[in-house]
Amino acid sequence: MQFIDSHCHLDFSEFDLSRKELLLQARAVGVGDIVVPGVIADAWQGLLSLIESDHNLHAALGLHPCFMEKHTQVDLERLETLLATERVCAVGEIGLDLFIPEANLDQQLLYLNDQLALAKQFDLPVLLHVRKAHDQMLKQLRLIQLERGGIVHAFSGSEQQARQYLDLGFKLGIGGTVTYERAKKVRRLVQELPLESFVLETDSPDMPLAGYQGEINQPAKVYEIAKVIAELRQIAVEEVATITTQQAQNLLRLI
Ligand code: ZN
Repeated sequence: MQFIDSHCHLDFSEFDLSRKELLLQARAVGVGDIVVPGVIADAWQGLLSLIESDHNLHAALGLHPCFMEKHTQVDLERLETLLATERVCAVGEIGLDLFIPEANLDQQLLYLNDQLALAKQFDLPVLLHVRKAHDQMLKQLRLIQLERGGIVHAFSGSEQQARQYLDLGFKLGIGGTVTYERAKKVRRLVQELPLESFVLETDSPDMPLAGYQGEINQPAKVYEIAKVIAELRQIAVEEVATITTQQAQNLLRLI
């Protein structure tokens, strides 16, 4: 079985954990390709050096809506240059977050739209972070019409919103949330929508799975996320692995 972690920050610098060791553990359970999104311009160069060392690691570059105070116009120009010259599989993580206190929607929209335009210009998919702003996001996506779509990371919206993203060529990123019994909305979506709608992700070191609260999340946990989806759909975990891996490979052009 082969899995892809389509959203993993791989930043364990704050913890006493070796990235190399965690990557070995991930590979041991079949997690091959891993997509690592950048969230601020200062992190991009480090990320590009990291993927140089391992061809199973893939970089996405973007300016995240939760770090607005760090972004400048110059970052957008740098992003354009890097997208033109570097091995990058997506623009991300970008998005809208109206959950954070004092969120400034207008400012977030400016950065979002510039980055959506760059994705279109370079024919890349996008990795979206969206909290309490799905309708606003869907509106922007309908306006720009990205040929290659993208992934809605840690999807938490309604079934109606999910179907609108799917119609626009997007996949829904399913991570640790689905392992919690109380996550009724996501669990129902995972049962009701076609398996082709989903890709797997951990967002590690964040978003620990049920039973691992308080621990550092890691890419090997993709396997357990797949097991929960298989149980919910009453299918074999192999089928979840095959279909979600195919979706991520096609969307991100990993082969
Ligand atoms: Zn993230």
